[in-house]
Amino acid sequence: MSLASDLTALLGAEQVDVSDAVRAQHSRGEAYAGAVLPDVVVFPRATAEVARLLAYASAHGVPVTPVGANSSLEGHTVPVRGGVSLDLTRMDRVLEVRPQDLLAVVQPGVTYPRLNERLRHHGLFFPVDPGAHATLGGMVSTNASGTAAVRYGTTGDHVLALEVVTPQGEVLRLGSRARKSASGYDLCALFTGAEGTLGVITEVTVKLVGLPEAVAAARVPFADALTATTFVTRLIQAGVPVARCELVDPYSIRAANAYSGTSFPEEMTVFLEFHGNAPGVAAELELARELALSLGAGAFEAATDAAERERLWRTRHTMFFAANAANPGLESLVTDVAVPISELPTAVTTALAECAAAGFEANLVGHVGDGNFHLNLYLPEDPAARAAAKGVVDRLTERALAVGGTATGEHGVGLRKLGYMEREHGASLGLMRAIKQLLDPAGIMNPGKKLPEAP
Ligand SMILES: Cc1cc2nc3c(=O)[nH]c(=O)nc-3n(C[C@H](O)[C@H](O)[C@H](O)COP(=O)(O)OP(=O)(O)OC[C@H]3O[C@@H](n4cnc5c(N)ncnc54)[C@H](O)[C@@H]3O)c2cc1C
Repeated sequence: MSLASDLTALLGAEQVDVSDAVRAQHSRGEAYAGAVLPDVVVFPRATAEVARLLAYASAHGVPVTPVGANSSLEGHTVPVRGGVSLDLTRMDRVLEVRPQDLLAVVQPGVTYPRLNERLRHHGLFFPVDPGAHATLGGMVSTNASGTAAVRYGTTGDHVLALEVVTPQGEVLRLGSRARKSASGYDLCALFTGAEGTLGVITEVTVKLVGLPEAVAAARVPFADALTATTFVTRLIQAGVPVARCELVDPYSIRAANAYSGTSFPEEMTVFLEFHGNAPGVAAELELARELALSLGAGAFEAATDAAERERLWRTRHTMFFAANAANPGLESLVTDVAVPISELPTAVTTALAECAAAGFEANLVGHVGDGNFHLNLYLPEDPAARAAAKGVVDRLTERALAVGGTATGEHGVGLRKLGYMEREHGASLGLMRAIKQLLDPAGIMNPGKKLPEAP
């Protein structure tokens, strides 16, 4: 019997797809050049089906790569050893919303925009927004963040409980509905950011927050990246509870204007948002305005109009695709370092200078309130250009690590960042490998990702 016929017998024909088109669709990730076809794509509808599949895969040594919206950027979902692509997007039900407990329970294929649609009339929202229409299962598995993490934290900060299926097919419930717990080892944290290498998440219970009574946004242009990032650093150091704080360079704004038909001025710009009650938001805006103007900002344009704010953040969320559209036929390489906030101005300006010196078209956007920024390099499919770009990224990452930062603030390791793990984690990589070995001795779960092979 073949793998496909075994799985069809186990799960039913509707859940199993071996067509070339669907396998090709699951062969690659976003912004990652390599592609490998899975042998089979499986679309489970229930936890029990995931459990049956994993018990079979463990027994037969079949690799399994979980997939949500497939928006991760580091080759996370490329099934490098073939086997099964486990597509969880049909497990897409919001199972429960408990406004009185500020929590929701969802299946892993629910996307965060859809969850927020469901929550709106309760006056609540789930505040993590990684831009692409990511699923909650994928977001927990990459510990995703986004524009609002500076105020509300990462996905991991909102996970109360998980249902996971172990590689052997056992269904476990981790965490609780209590807002805090000091009980046992924190296994929710272990599965958060595990990139599908330890098991499959089949249910997520998340904490929610109240929709703010008042919201204001501001657009603050600066002459250069150094002043813009100095502004951000001082704003955060002053304890102003900014809800969003994004740096966008003129190149990205030009691309976004062309892509979205907007007309934002093409300047080095910090976009801000404040959440709270009306007097609080007004006071925060005023503090930010004073600081910005004292540092020589070209303007401080505040907007409280909801449609204008929506347009601004929608444009921000399409910037990745806008920059890709401005560079047809070129490969993109996205960096994702995060540094302690005081190191941000040096990290950003050095990265830009290095990129220019190496002759690359690059754009810069970043959730800079968290010390996290993305430099996107565009390069032709040419080994020399790839090597030069890798040199830029290696030096950028080395500098981030040297000042106490991380190689990846939010995108995760996948395949592309494996080379930095030894340098970042040192001896604790051994403990991580031991955990992987304990949970997944057959090595079936998303093999080749997250942890580099032991020497
Ligand atoms: C335009 C754009 C903007 C982005 N902006 C941000 C950003 O601001 N912040 C940010 O953090 N990320 C960002 N990302 C990256 C991406 O959206 C996140 O990594 C997101 O969390 C991935 O979710 P997904 O549903 O697409 O997961 P996928 O890409 O399908 O999977 C991601 C990883 O999770 C694993 N996985 C998926 N589902 C499960 C499951 N149920 N159980 C176990 N493992 C699972 C997969 O094996 C894989 O390793 C952006 C991507 C794009 C394209």
